[in-house]
Amino acid sequence: MNPTLIESVRLRQVNLPPKVVRTDAIQSFVTQETILLTLRCSDGSEGTGYAYTIGTGGSSVLALLRDHLAPRLIGRHPLNIEAIWKDLFFHTHATAVGAITSLALACVDTALWDWRARTLGLPLWQLLGGAQASVPVYTTEGGWLHLSASELVDQTLAAEAQGFRGAKIKVGRPHVSEDVARLSAVRQALGAGFEIMTDANQGFDRPQVLRRAAAFEGLDLAWLEEPLPAEDVSGHRQLRAQTSIPVAVGESLYHLGQFREYLEQGACSIVQPDVARVGGITPWIKVAHLAESFNVPVCPHFLMELHVSLCAAVPNAAWVEYIPQLDDITTSRIRVAAGQAFPPDRPGLGIEWDWPVIELRQLADLCVEKT
Ligand code: MG
Repeated sequence: MNPTLIESVRLRQVNLPPKVVRTDAIQSFVTQETILLTLRCSDGSEGTGYAYTIGTGGSSVLALLRDHLAPRLIGRHPLNIEAIWKDLFFHTHATAVGAITSLALACVDTALWDWRARTLGLPLWQLLGGAQASVPVYTTEGGWLHLSASELVDQTLAAEAQGFRGAKIKVGRPHVSEDVARLSAVRQALGAGFEIMTDANQGFDRPQVLRRAAAFEGLDLAWLEEPLPAEDVSGHRQLRAQTSIPVAVGESLYHLGQFREYLEQGACSIVQPDVARVGGITPWIKVAHLAESFNVPVCPHFLMELHVSLCAAVPNAAWVEYIPQLDDITTSRIRVAAGQAFPPDRPGLGIEWDWPVIELRQLADLCVEKT
């Protein structure tokens, strides 16, 4: 019997507005450019993957896929995921490691894993390891930087009432006293048992981050996320040496080797790989296992519809971040109960795409096939 081979690759782009206004220390989230990749095989089987941007670069990801990556998939065996990932990475050698290339690789890689899980009839979380039937979930949707202290308190209390056990509050207001006032108001209202995650979005320099971290001591924060620019590994190491607050990094890292650097140097306490930005499920799982070897938990960034399954797959995932990302173009929803998120039991990624809606809203629809 001939093996099934990839015959065509379809690329679509859909732009989604965020559900609420999202601002942090360095940017605001304007539009989620969602790039969808569907590969179709000679036996008619299909797999769909995706990646996203928060407003810039979507057309570049699409062009890289159309012109350079998708043609190299035609005629390949979809089970050979590692071989395909390595081939595409080296083919784009002069533009890697980089965000656009990693996002494009993620479109391909997540489609290949969807195909594999569908073909084997397995949910992704069990195909990849099956470590936890559910994972604690925290919300980010009420903690944006433009909100007042009283709005933060109201939204965090509402999140607690919905069952969330933690919430993320953005930091990086112009003066340290404003951050302290906002965090203190939330801690006072929510009490000792509720987890407060904080996120600086790379907004501080070295002297400022030491001052802020010292001022935050005593608030019992779950972590301080992206306190410094992601490329300042030694700055993170210095910070860790001087604060008891766990330091989290990962959403702005684009390769497994960058995580190794942080872990090897003891420059972070928590890793937050983003399955789109790190280049797909193949490298994401490697990051998680690498972190496990350092006894470091994984708390991935964004993409909850996919990360819920990846977190459930590995033993060291601690939290899923709740930010609905795909509701406008999917019919499936993550089940959340009593502060726990449950991975879907459907074969594949477990994401049910709403194709009629996608066809109505798509800005691009391209097909690369065997010539
Ligand atoms: Mg963040």
